[in-house]
Amino acid sequence: MIAGSLSRSCPVCGEAGSTALFTKATLRLVRCRGCGMIYADPIGEELANGEYYDRLANPFYLSPAKLAGDYSPVRFERERKLFRRFHPGGRVLDVGCSTGGFLHQLQRQLGTGAKVLGIDVSGPALDHAEGNGIPVLRQPFLTAEFTGEAFSSVTFWAVMEHLANPREFLSKAASILKPRGLCFILVPNFQSLAVRLLGSKYRYIFPQHINYFTPATLRGLVATEPRFRIVHLGSTHFNPLVIWQDWKGRGDFVADQDRAELLRRTTAYKQNPMLKPVRLGLQATEWVLGGLRLADNLVVVLEKM
Ligand SMILES: [Zn+2]
Repeated sequence: MIAGSLSRSCPVCGEAGSTALFTKATLRLVRCRGCGMIYADPIGEELANGEYYDRLANPFYLSPAKLAGDYSPVRFERERKLFRRFHPGGRVLDVGCSTGGFLHQLQRQLGTGAKVLGIDVSGPALDHAEGNGIPVLRQPFLTAEFTGEAFSSVTFWAVMEHLANPREFLSKAASILKPRGLCFILVPNFQSLAVRLLGSKYRYIFPQHINYFTPATLRGLVATEPRFRIVHLGSTHFNPLVIWQDWKGRGDFVADQDRAELLRRTTAYKQNPMLKPVRLGLQATEWVLGGLRLADNLVVVLEKM
C-alpha cells in the first residue's frame, strides 16, 4: 500500500474479503465477496477525510466552465423534477451542496421563502453559494448539529460515490428527518450502457469516485438503515457525447477542466433551439435506457418510517 492511502472493507456490508476487478492507473477497484459491491481499495487519505474537496478540488468546482454549467437553468432539471414530484414541502437540506447550483434553482422555482440549507466541506465553493443568497453550514455533515425544525427532505446529488462511509451518512440523514420525511440519492450507475460499452475507459471511473453502485448494491446500502423504505428507484441521464469522447480516447483520466468543459457544452446544446429534434431523440433514448436501468445515474427516493 502507498503511504497516505487507506485500506477499506466493503462500504455496504462491511465484509473485508474482496476480489480484484481491475486497475486504472492509480485506481484499484474490487468486488465485495459478501454483497457484490464494487469499490476502490485502497483510497487516498485526503479523499477519506474530505480534505481533497476543501483544498484540491477548488479549481474544478469554481472554474468558469463548471460554474456556468451548474448555474444554468437546465442543470439539475431531472433532479428538480424528481424532487418536486415527491417533496412534501418544508425544510430542505442539500448535503454536499458545493457551489449551490441545485438550491439556487430550487429557490428560483419555489421563491425566496423556500426553507433551504446547504452543507459542504469545501469552503470556497460555499463562499460562492452564499454569494448567491443560499444559507450554508460549514461543517462536516456527520458531526454537524442542526437546530430548528427537523427536515422534510435531505438530498445527496452525486455525493455517496465520494464517501468512505456512506452508511453513516444515510443513518445521519434518517436521524435529522421528520417522520415521513424523504431522502433523495443520485449516484452513477455501474450497470449503465456507458460502463457496458466503455468499461474502465469511462471517465467517471476515476479516483474521486470510490463507490460504484448497481441497482442491487444501492438497495443493499439502503437496507442498512431500517428507518428508511424505498418509494422510488429509477435510472436517469444519458450523455452520448461522453461515450463518444471516451470511446475515441485512450482511457486516461480526463482532466477536471476538460470534464467541466464538456458539461458546459452539453448544457449549451440543451438550450439551443436548433437542436430540438436531436434532443427529442435523446429524450426517447434516455427514457428507454431509464426503464432498463441502463441510464448514466441511479436515483432512489427513501421515506423515513
Ligand atoms: Zn459487501
